[in-house]
Amino acid sequence: MSAEIINGRAISDELLMGLKAQIENLRTQHHVTPCLAVVLVGERPDSLSYVTNKDRVAQQIGMASRPVKLPSTATQDEILRAVQELNADIKVHGILVQMPLPSHVDAETVMAAIDPAKDVDGFHDVNVGKLHKGKKDGFTPCTPMGCMVLLHRVLPNLKGKRAVVIGRSNIVGKPMAYLLQEANATVTLAHSGTHDLASVVAEHDIVIAAIGKPEFVKANFIKPKDAIIIDVGINRIERDGKPKLVGDVDFAAVSEKAAFITPVPGGVGPMTIWGLMDNTVKAACAAHNITRAR
Ligand code: NAD
Repeated sequence: MSAEIINGRAISDELLMGLKAQIENLRTQHHVTPCLAVVLVGERPDSLSYVTNKDRVAQQIGMASRPVKLPSTATQDEILRAVQELNADIKVHGILVQMPLPSHVDAETVMAAIDPAKDVDGFHDVNVGKLHKGKKDGFTPCTPMGCMVLLHRVLPNLKGKRAVVIGRSNIVGKPMAYLLQEANATVTLAHSGTHDLASVVAEHDIVIAAIGKPEFVKANFIKPKDAIIIDVGINRIERDGKPKLVGDVDFAAVSEKAAFITPVPGGVGPMTIWGLMDNTVKAACAAHNITRAR
Protein backbone atom coordinates (compact mmCIF):
# COMPACT_ATOMS: atom_id res chain seq x y z
CA MET A 1 0.00 0.00 0.00
CA SER A 2 1.16 3.53 -0.66
CA ALA A 3 -0.17 6.50 1.31
CA GLU A 4 -2.06 9.32 -0.36
CA ILE A 5 -0.01 12.52 -0.37
CA ILE A 6 -1.54 15.58 1.31
CA ASN A 7 -0.41 18.31 -1.06
CA GLY A 8 0.23 21.28 1.22
CA ARG A 9 1.48 23.44 -1.62
CA ALA A 10 -1.71 23.05 -3.67
CA ILE A 11 -3.95 23.58 -0.61
CA SER A 12 -1.94 26.66 0.40
CA ASP A 13 -2.14 28.08 -3.15
CA GLU A 14 -5.91 27.60 -3.14
CA LEU A 15 -6.31 29.29 0.27
CA LEU A 16 -3.98 32.15 -0.73
CA MET A 17 -6.19 32.83 -3.76
CA GLY A 18 -9.10 33.21 -1.33
CA LEU A 19 -7.06 35.62 0.78
CA LYS A 20 -6.12 37.60 -2.32
CA ALA A 21 -9.81 38.13 -3.05
CA GLN A 22 -10.43 39.18 0.57
CA ILE A 23 -7.55 41.67 0.43
CA GLU A 24 -8.85 43.12 -2.83
CA ASN A 25 -12.26 43.51 -1.19
CA LEU A 26 -10.74 45.22 1.87
CA ARG A 27 -8.88 47.61 -0.40
CA THR A 28 -11.82 48.53 -2.63
CA GLN A 29 -14.65 48.44 -0.05
CA HIS A 30 -12.85 49.69 3.07
CA HIS A 31 -9.66 51.40 1.79
CA VAL A 32 -7.57 49.12 4.00
CA THR A 33 -4.50 47.23 2.76
CA PRO A 34 -3.33 44.62 5.28
CA CYS A 35 0.35 45.18 6.04
CA LEU A 36 2.85 42.71 7.48
CA ALA A 37 6.12 43.93 9.01
CA VAL A 38 8.92 41.39 9.21
CA VAL A 39 11.90 42.18 11.43
CA LEU A 40 15.09 40.36 10.49
CA VAL A 41 18.15 40.68 12.72
CA GLY A 42 21.38 39.49 11.11
CA GLU A 43 21.87 37.53 7.91
CA ARG A 44 21.39 33.84 8.69
CA PRO A 45 20.84 32.29 5.24
CA ASP A 46 17.85 30.18 6.43
CA SER A 47 16.16 33.20 8.08
CA LEU A 48 16.87 35.33 5.01
CA SER A 49 15.24 32.74 2.78
CA TYR A 50 12.15 32.44 5.07
CA VAL A 51 11.76 36.23 5.14
CA THR A 52 12.17 36.56 1.36
CA ASN A 53 9.55 33.87 0.88
CA LYS A 54 7.04 35.56 3.19
CA ASP A 55 7.63 38.88 1.44
CA ARG A 56 7.11 37.30 -1.99
CA VAL A 57 3.84 35.64 -0.99
CA ALA A 58 2.58 38.86 0.67
CA GLN A 59 3.19 40.73 -2.59
CA GLN A 60 1.54 38.00 -4.67
CA ILE A 61 -1.72 38.34 -2.74
CA GLY A 62 -1.73 42.14 -2.69
CA MET A 63 -0.67 42.54 0.94
CA ALA A 64 1.68 45.37 1.84
CA SER A 65 4.94 44.29 3.39
CA ARG A 66 7.34 46.26 5.55
CA PRO A 67 10.77 44.62 5.81
CA VAL A 68 12.88 45.87 8.72
CA LYS A 69 16.49 44.71 8.55
CA LEU A 70 18.86 45.16 11.48
CA PRO A 71 22.51 44.06 11.70
CA SER A 72 23.43 41.01 13.82
CA THR A 73 25.16 43.46 16.19
CA ALA A 74 21.87 45.31 16.92
CA THR A 75 21.34 45.68 20.66
CA GLN A 76 18.23 44.47 22.44
CA ASP A 77 17.17 48.10 22.94
CA GLU A 78 17.51 48.80 19.21
CA ILE A 79 15.35 45.80 18.37
CA LEU A 80 12.77 46.79 20.99
CA ARG A 81 12.69 50.31 19.57
CA ALA A 82 12.03 48.92 16.07
CA VAL A 83 9.17 46.82 17.46
CA GLN A 84 7.70 49.78 19.34
CA GLU A 85 7.76 51.91 16.18
CA LEU A 86 5.84 49.18 14.34
CA ASN A 87 3.39 48.86 17.26
CA ALA A 88 2.67 52.59 16.98
CA ASP A 89 2.32 52.61 13.18
CA ILE A 90 -1.39 52.39 12.33
CA LYS A 91 -0.57 51.27 8.77
CA VAL A 92 1.10 48.09 10.10
CA HIS A 93 -1.34 45.32 11.10
CA GLY A 94 0.96 42.36 11.71
CA ILE A 95 4.48 42.14 13.16
CA LEU A 96 6.76 39.14 12.96
CA VAL A 97 10.25 39.00 14.41
CA GLN A 98 12.15 36.26 12.60
CA MET A 99 13.60 33.71 15.04
CA PRO A 100 16.17 32.77 16.11
CA LEU A 101 17.56 36.09 17.32
CA PRO A 102 21.31 36.49 17.97
CA SER A 103 22.35 34.97 21.32
CA HIS A 104 22.90 38.34 23.02
CA VAL A 105 19.17 39.13 22.63
CA ASP A 106 16.44 37.75 24.91
CA ALA A 107 13.79 36.47 22.50
CA GLU A 108 11.10 36.34 25.23
CA THR A 109 11.54 40.05 25.96
CA VAL A 110 11.26 40.89 22.26
CA MET A 111 8.14 38.72 21.81
CA ALA A 112 6.55 40.32 24.87
CA ALA A 113 7.12 43.78 23.37
CA ILE A 114 4.94 43.10 20.30
CA ASP A 115 1.42 44.51 20.59
CA PRO A 116 -0.74 41.34 21.07
CA ALA A 117 -3.21 42.76 18.52
CA LYS A 118 -0.38 42.67 15.91
CA ASP A 119 1.24 39.41 17.07
CA VAL A 120 0.46 37.40 13.93
CA ASP A 121 2.90 34.65 14.97
CA GLY A 122 0.73 34.00 18.04
CA PHE A 123 3.73 33.79 20.38
CA HIS A 124 2.78 36.58 22.83
CA ASP A 125 1.62 35.37 26.27
CA VAL A 126 -1.79 37.03 25.70
CA ASN A 127 -2.37 35.00 22.53
CA VAL A 128 -1.00 31.80 24.10
CA GLY A 129 -3.49 32.31 26.97
CA LYS A 130 -6.37 32.91 24.55
CA LEU A 131 -5.52 29.74 22.64
CA HIS A 132 -5.42 27.72 25.84
CA LYS A 133 -8.81 29.08 26.88
CA GLY A 134 -10.30 28.36 23.46
CA LYS A 135 -10.93 32.07 22.74
CA LYS A 136 -11.21 32.82 19.04
CA ASP A 137 -10.16 36.49 19.02
CA GLY A 138 -6.43 35.79 19.51
CA PHE A 139 -3.81 34.59 17.04
CA THR A 140 -2.95 30.91 16.65
CA PRO A 141 0.66 30.03 15.78
CA CYS A 142 0.85 29.60 12.01
CA THR A 143 2.37 26.13 11.72
CA PRO A 144 -0.16 24.30 13.94
CA MET A 145 -2.91 26.32 12.25
CA GLY A 146 -1.74 25.04 8.85
CA CYS A 147 -1.45 21.45 10.15
CA MET A 148 -5.09 21.53 11.31
CA VAL A 149 -6.24 22.59 7.84
CA LEU A 150 -4.29 19.75 6.23
CA LEU A 151 -5.72 17.27 8.70
CA HIS A 152 -9.28 18.46 8.21
CA ARG A 153 -8.92 18.06 4.45
CA VAL A 154 -8.57 14.30 4.85
CA LEU A 155 -10.51 13.85 8.10
CA PRO A 156 -13.20 16.50 8.70
CA ASN A 157 -14.27 15.06 12.06
CA LEU A 158 -11.55 14.20 14.61
CA LYS A 159 -13.98 13.13 17.33
CA GLY A 160 -12.98 9.79 18.80
CA LYS A 161 -9.60 9.76 17.03
CA ARG A 162 -6.36 9.39 18.93
CA ALA A 163 -3.64 11.90 18.00
CA VAL A 164 -0.02 12.02 19.11
CA VAL A 165 2.13 15.14 18.82
CA ILE A 166 5.85 14.40 19.01
CA GLY A 167 7.65 17.50 20.31
CA ARG A 168 6.58 19.99 22.98
CA SER A 169 7.95 23.31 21.71
CA ASN A 170 5.99 26.50 22.37
CA ILE A 171 5.73 27.27 18.66
CA VAL A 172 4.62 23.89 17.32
CA GLY A 173 4.07 20.97 19.70
CA LYS A 174 2.14 22.59 22.57
CA PRO A 175 -0.25 24.72 20.46
CA MET A 176 -0.78 21.74 18.14
CA ALA A 177 -1.88 19.58 21.07
CA TYR A 178 -4.34 22.30 22.16
CA LEU A 179 -5.86 22.62 18.69
CA LEU A 180 -6.27 18.86 18.38
CA GLN A 181 -8.10 18.55 21.69
CA GLU A 182 -10.27 21.57 20.78
CA ALA A 183 -11.21 19.56 17.67
CA ASN A 184 -12.27 16.65 19.92
CA ALA A 185 -9.32 14.34 19.31
CA THR A 186 -7.86 12.46 22.29
CA VAL A 187 -4.32 13.76 22.47
CA THR A 188 -0.95 12.46 23.64
CA LEU A 189 1.96 14.92 23.80
CA ALA A 190 5.16 12.89 23.42
CA HIS A 191 8.67 14.33 23.83
CA SER A 192 12.31 13.55 24.52
CA GLY A 193 11.36 12.10 27.91
CA THR A 194 8.78 9.65 26.50
CA HIS A 195 9.62 6.02 27.14
CA ASP A 196 9.30 3.60 24.19
CA LEU A 197 8.17 6.27 21.75
CA ALA A 198 7.62 3.79 18.88
CA SER A 199 4.99 1.83 20.88
CA VAL A 200 3.29 5.02 22.07
CA VAL A 201 3.05 6.45 18.55
CA ALA A 202 1.78 3.12 17.15
CA GLU A 203 -1.41 3.45 19.26
CA HIS A 204 -2.51 6.61 17.40
CA ASP A 205 -4.58 7.40 14.30
CA ILE A 206 -2.95 10.80 13.76
CA VAL A 207 0.78 11.50 14.10
CA ILE A 208 2.20 15.03 14.13
CA ALA A 209 6.00 14.94 14.02
CA ALA A 210 7.72 18.15 15.22
CA ILE A 211 11.04 16.93 16.53
CA GLY A 212 13.77 18.49 14.41
CA LYS A 213 15.56 15.16 13.73
CA PRO A 214 15.85 13.93 10.12
CA GLU A 215 13.68 10.88 9.30
CA PHE A 216 13.35 10.00 12.98
CA VAL A 217 9.85 8.48 12.76
CA LYS A 218 10.20 5.04 11.19
CA ALA A 219 7.64 2.64 9.73
CA ASN A 220 7.54 0.56 12.95
CA PHE A 221 6.13 3.65 14.78
CA ILE A 222 3.05 3.65 12.58
CA LYS A 223 -0.27 1.91 13.03
CA PRO A 224 -0.97 -0.12 9.89
CA LYS A 225 -3.42 1.05 7.20
CA ASP A 226 -5.33 4.10 8.43
CA ALA A 227 -2.82 6.46 10.08
CA ILE A 228 -2.53 10.10 9.01
CA ILE A 229 0.98 11.54 9.20
CA ILE A 230 1.71 15.28 9.33
CA ASP A 231 5.43 15.96 9.11
CA VAL A 232 6.41 19.39 10.44
CA GLY A 233 10.17 18.80 10.37
CA ILE A 234 12.50 20.70 8.09
CA ASN A 235 16.01 19.25 8.16
CA ARG A 236 18.83 20.00 5.78
CA ILE A 237 20.96 16.92 5.19
CA GLU A 238 23.46 15.72 2.64
CA ARG A 239 22.59 12.57 0.65
CA ASP A 240 24.71 11.09 -2.12
CA GLY A 241 26.91 14.17 -1.86
CA LYS A 242 24.00 16.53 -2.51
CA PRO A 243 22.07 18.85 -0.14
CA LYS A 244 18.53 17.61 0.56
CA LEU A 245 15.56 18.77 2.62
CA VAL A 246 13.88 16.02 4.65
CA GLY A 247 11.25 15.91 7.37
CA ASP A 248 11.16 14.23 10.76
CA VAL A 249 9.47 11.21 9.17
CA ASP A 250 11.15 8.51 7.09
CA PHE A 251 8.89 9.33 4.14
CA ALA A 252 9.75 6.39 1.86
CA ALA A 253 9.15 3.71 4.51
CA VAL A 254 6.24 5.37 6.36
CA SER A 255 4.30 6.12 3.17
CA GLU A 256 4.20 2.34 2.54
CA LYS A 257 2.28 1.88 5.80
CA ALA A 258 0.15 4.99 6.43
CA ALA A 259 -3.09 6.12 4.75
CA PHE A 260 -2.14 9.81 4.30
CA ILE A 261 1.15 11.67 4.59
CA THR A 262 2.51 15.18 4.03
CA PRO A 263 5.71 15.49 1.97
CA VAL A 264 8.75 17.63 2.82
CA PRO A 265 9.06 20.01 1.08
CA GLY A 266 5.54 20.86 -0.11
CA GLY A 267 3.55 19.84 2.97
CA VAL A 268 3.40 21.89 6.16
CA GLY A 269 5.88 24.60 5.05
CA PRO A 270 3.59 26.38 2.52
CA MET A 271 0.70 26.12 5.01
CA THR A 272 2.72 28.01 7.63
CA ILE A 273 3.05 30.93 5.22
CA TRP A 274 -0.68 30.82 4.51
CA GLY A 275 -1.31 30.89 8.29
CA LEU A 276 0.79 34.02 8.62
CA MET A 277 -1.05 35.78 5.79
CA ASP A 278 -4.42 34.70 7.18
CA ASN A 279 -3.54 36.04 10.65
CA THR A 280 -2.44 39.35 9.12
CA VAL A 281 -5.77 39.74 7.30
CA LYS A 282 -7.53 38.88 10.58
CA ALA A 283 -5.45 41.55 12.39
CA ALA A 284 -6.26 44.17 9.74
CA CYS A 285 -9.99 43.43 9.96
CA ALA A 286 -9.92 43.60 13.77
CA ALA A 287 -7.95 46.88 13.74
CA HIS A 288 -10.57 48.51 11.49
CA ASN A 289 -13.65 46.86 13.05
CA ILE A 290 -14.44 45.08 9.80
CA THR A 291 -16.41 41.83 9.93
CA ARG A 292 -14.35 39.37 7.99
CA ALA A 293 -15.83 38.01 4.75
CA ARG A 294 -15.18 34.29 4.23
P1 NAD B 1 12.31 22.34 19.04
O1 NAD B 1 13.73 21.94 18.94
O2 NAD B 1 11.95 23.59 19.75
O3 NAD B 1 11.49 21.16 19.74
C1 NAD B 1 11.72 19.82 19.40
C2 NAD B 1 10.91 18.94 20.31
O4 NAD B 1 11.19 17.59 19.95
C3 NAD B 1 11.24 19.08 21.80
O5 NAD B 1 10.07 19.43 22.49
C4 NAD B 1 11.72 17.71 22.23
O6 NAD B 1 11.13 17.28 23.45
C5 NAD B 1 11.27 16.80 21.12
N1 NAD B 1 12.28 15.76 20.90
C6 NAD B 1 13.60 15.90 20.68
N2 NAD B 1 14.19 14.69 20.59
C7 NAD B 1 13.21 13.78 20.76
C8 NAD B 1 13.20 12.36 20.80
N3 NAD B 1 14.32 11.66 20.63
N4 NAD B 1 12.03 11.75 21.01
C9 NAD B 1 10.89 12.46 21.19
N5 NAD B 1 10.84 13.81 21.16
C10 NAD B 1 12.00 14.45 20.96
O7 NAD B 1 11.75 22.32 17.56
P2 NAD B 1 10.48 23.04 16.88
O8 NAD B 1 10.76 24.49 16.78
O9 NAD B 1 9.22 22.56 17.51
O10 NAD B 1 10.60 22.44 15.41
C11 NAD B 1 10.51 21.07 15.15
C12 NAD B 1 10.80 20.81 13.69
O11 NAD B 1 9.81 21.46 12.92
C13 NAD B 1 12.12 21.36 13.19
O12 NAD B 1 12.61 20.49 12.17
C14 NAD B 1 11.77 22.69 12.57
O13 NAD B 1 12.67 23.10 11.57
C15 NAD B 1 10.43 22.36 12.00
N6 NAD B 1 9.53 23.50 11.82
C16 NAD B 1 8.89 23.57 10.64
C17 NAD B 1 7.99 24.57 10.41
C18 NAD B 1 7.27 24.59 9.09
O14 NAD B 1 6.75 25.62 8.70
N7 NAD B 1 7.20 23.47 8.40
C19 NAD B 1 7.73 25.53 11.37
C20 NAD B 1 8.38 25.43 12.61
C21 NAD B 1 9.28 24.39 12.82
